[in-house]
Amino acid sequence: MSPPDWDVIVLGAGPAGALAAHQLSRHRLRVLLVEKRAFPRWKVCGSCLNGVALRALGEAGLDHLVDDLGGVPLARLRLGLQGHRLELGLPLGQSLSRARLDLALSEAAVAAGAVLHLHTEASVDGPCPGGRRVLLRSGDKHQITSARVVLVATGLGSPGLDPAIPIRTRISPSARVGAGCQVEAGEASGYGRGTIHMAIGRHGYVGLVRNETGDLTMAAAFERAHLIGAGGPAAAAAAVLAEAGFDPVPQAASASWRATPALTCRSTPPAAERVLLLGDAAGYVEPFTGEGMGWAMVGALAAVPLVLRGQGDWSQELEREWARRHGRLIGSRQRFCHGLAFALRRPGLSRSLLMAVERWPLLTAPLLQQLGGATLERLTPEPCP
Ligand SMILES: Cc1cc2nc3c(=O)[nH]c(=O)nc-3n(C[C@H](O)[C@H](O)[C@H](O)COP(=O)(O)OP(=O)(O)OC[C@H]3O[C@@H](n4cnc5c(N)ncnc54)[C@H](O)[C@@H]3O)c2cc1C
Repeated sequence: MSPPDWDVIVLGAGPAGALAAHQLSRHRLRVLLVEKRAFPRWKVCGSCLNGVALRALGEAGLDHLVDDLGGVPLARLRLGLQGHRLELGLPLGQSLSRARLDLALSEAAVAAGAVLHLHTEASVDGPCPGGRRVLLRSGDKHQITSARVVLVATGLGSPGLDPAIPIRTRISPSARVGAGCQVEAGEASGYGRGTIHMAIGRHGYVGLVRNETGDLTMAAAFERAHLIGAGGPAAAAAAVLAEAGFDPVPQAASASWRATPALTCRSTPPAAERVLLLGDAAGYVEPFTGEGMGWAMVGALAAVPLVLRGQGDWSQELEREWARRHGRLIGSRQRFCHGLAFALRRPGLSRSLLMAVERWPLLTAPLLQQLGGATLERLTPEPCP
């Protein structure tokens, strides 16, 4: 009986997968990181790293990474709703294009010892002695390999699991869909650097932020019917900007927009025998508070102790522990975002909320505290020297 080929196989090299691969390699495990796309790649995302994400990178020993890549400090959040404006100071945050961030994280994982296979699609297959089989497909080449533990960090959409694995992904019936693009917009366009500009409409919202190249990243969430009715994401975004009283972005009409699968979803339980789900693959709530990368990175760090324990015999207690740990660290943050998203769908309630915050700015303290991540506990054991 031969042992599994790898200690860990990580599916997906977004922030969750690449950071997990980096940490586990620092613990001297043999890690294979598999990514279906070629890097660098563009991805629908507001590209704002909040305090939680930045602190998680710090805990992983990557505290200089965002600065070194030219990340733009974010000092303000500017909200627009039905012509009302509100500006809030942000505790901590940086914007950095996902093309640069994800490439750098995967390179850091490789520098720490992980093996990276790009352009390779992976799926989790049945159990094998002491591990799990994983199927790899690159072009017309197919390969079967195995690991003691498999981390699924494949983002939104199907997690690529064998149907016999008892994990089910449920999409919320009211889930919005995401869309985004990047445009070259002159500094005079009203969307200055260092600010997250958030336009809120009845059927969706659009976030705009300048990244390290000076380009404007637009990332939006729309009701599906509105997206179709408007005739596509560019028109839907233009309608939201107008409704919020924000300047138009004419370049967005000819930009190349990409859409995402449904945004609000949950995979339960987030673990099975020798398999843990991380990041968006475990569950996601629409992106109003821009926390997804923070949740993904916290999940990556929090999984490390369980993966280390799972190198020996596997017990169902590890699966239950991951469900509890994930729920405590990430589920609670997602519930807060869920509540906000619920309020924003009701024009009367969101207007009252905005006016209350204008009058009593201290009401934003819980949100700013959450985004700042100051209360984040240490999540991983120190890696080997
Ligand atoms: C409109 C919008 C705006 C957002 N804005 C922000 C923001 O400003 N700040 C923030 O923190 N978050 C934001 N988010 C959320 C953030 O983008 C995600 O939460 C984050 O990317 C999750 O990271 P992940 O590693 O779980 O998944 P991903 O980043 O999606 O990475 C998954 C990777 O897995 C790969 N993959 C998929 N299937 C396979 C397979 N079978 N085999 C191999 N590889 C596979 C994919 O190609 C991808 O590279 C936003 C999301 C949306 C939709």
